[in-house]
Amino acid sequence: MHTVNLSNVSPDARAACAEIARKADVNLRDCYQCGKCSAGCPMSEDMDLPPRQVIRKLQLGLLDEALSASSPWLCAQCQVCSVRCPQGIDITGIMREVRRASKAAGKRSLPESDVFEDLFLKKVKKKGRSNEQYLAASYNMSSGHLMQDMGSAPKMLSKGLVGVKAQSVRDIDAVRKIFEKCEEGRDA
Ligand code: SF4
Ligand code: SF4
Repeated sequence: MHTVNLSNVSPDARAACAEIARKADVNLRDCYQCGKCSAGCPMSEDMDLPPRQVIRKLQLGLLDEALSASSPWLCAQCQVCSVRCPQGIDITGIMREVRRASKAAGKRSLPESDVFEDLFLKKVKKKGRSNEQYLAASYNMSSGHLMQDMGSAPKMLSKGLVGVKAQSVRDIDAVRKIFEKCEEGRDA
């Protein structure tokens, strides 16, 4: 059995865990560790801390362990955990906020995931959609995986699955307003 010495947990760590929960609009005391979230999570097999354990770390004030986990960076934000939770806890939001806090603390256990997310959002903000060919090229350049998936590019181009010209949605201003609203909510 893994023993945790809670007398070593600092008030600052507890406060930071509470702040992560506040931003996700979650009361950590609502979780009674039933595990339904982890049981339904399609990514949990590959996670070092399944969603139930991420919540547990926050409940105990074990900030470093939560922020160092790879699982928030693997989370697909699919919402299955949140839908399954008998307590109505927004675990998806918790994973999102742990990821943000992890990034702010410079921990990013899966930097490629962070690079991809930033590029994806930047491109959607600019064009209203992601143009996979440019997203893939930018990702390869930024992540250092220069040739990743490049082998399939000629075939995809020849079959018209991707094009050279970047596509944009008609009402790009509406998309930018959505981004502005999200950014306002994030800073609140
Ligand atoms: S399903 Fe809800 S109550 Fe159960 S462990 Fe997950 S977060 Fe906690
Ligand atoms: S939102 Fe994330 S943690 Fe929740 S079920 Fe989906 S992948 Fe798993």
